[in-house]
Amino acid sequence: MTHRSTPGADLTLGTLRAAPGTRAAGHIRLDTGPAEVEIPVVLLNGAEPGPRVAVTSGIHGAEYVSIAALRQVANSLDPADVSGCLVAVLVSNPAAFATRSIYIDPLDGRNLNRVFPGDPAGTASQRIADWIVREVMTGSDAFVDMHCGDMNEALVPFTGIEETGDPAIDVVSRSMAAAYGLDFLVVGPLAGSSVSAATALGIPAVLGEVGGQGLWPASDVTRHADGFRRVLASLGLRSGAGDGPTPPTRLLGTDVWLRSSSTGFWHPVVKPGDQVHAGDPVGVVQDAFGAPLQEVTAPLDGVVLFVVSSLAMNDGDPLLAIGG
Ligand SMILES: [Zn+2]
Repeated sequence: MTHRSTPGADLTLGTLRAAPGTRAAGHIRLDTGPAEVEIPVVLLNGAEPGPRVAVTSGIHGAEYVSIAALRQVANSLDPADVSGCLVAVLVSNPAAFATRSIYIDPLDGRNLNRVFPGDPAGTASQRIADWIVREVMTGSDAFVDMHCGDMNEALVPFTGIEETGDPAIDVVSRSMAAAYGLDFLVVGPLAGSSVSAATALGIPAVLGEVGGQGLWPASDVTRHADGFRRVLASLGLRSGAGDGPTPPTRLLGTDVWLRSSSTGFWHPVVKPGDQVHAGDPVGVVQDAFGAPLQEVTAPLDGVVLFVVSSLAMNDGDPLLAIGG
């Protein structure tokens, strides 16, 4: 099923319908298997024809900067100023939001951003992913997935894209990332993610990350919202006037996630944005009595993108990521 923006046509999603020049806001009910969830969605059908842009936040339920930023933009855009359509999923994983869950959907214990493109007969996360792919992404000209550090993560603002080798897609994804204006751009595979699913459908896509640690200060929300507005302007969906210059973004070729090999106590010695060199110590996982279980060193020269900021560490969990 496609929902491509047709000039003069209504924009529909589930039970929501927006005539040209209007907005519609409401909850979409989705049967996830163990529970029915209500997903808040805003549809903006512009007065003028233009691209259909899909955006999600709250794929991770405790990433508040991204959720607050998308609410701010989707609830404030005037359809009279919009050329094209915006389909905005304000909280993609309501059960995770309600339970303040880190990483996972409490209904199935899975990380929603690792199960794309999903499965309509699968677990709760797989069903949400499938709904996003079929109903939200499909038929769109561009896709944006808004994230931040999780409740237990501090990060430096960055964007991520996955290249396909098709310049018609990759050039647009790169221009969206440039318009976002965050500190770094990571180009690399994002297996099982929403962005990966979008690019596999031939839809240019970008991941945006600003803030974290369960906080949502106005400065971070504004930075994320302004970046997203610039992305919409770059796609021709709205005028970019009044947003100021786009901050520069430094390109990083890859990112490496370091993980804990023990359950214990995590003591990082670097912070987001720090430059590190291969072999530098970046932290240690200790046992309850201070003995080192894992001395962690940087495997490459690069910049620290995020650091888990909780003392508690679980075997197999991320510790930090370095982009280089
Ligand atoms: Zn996330």
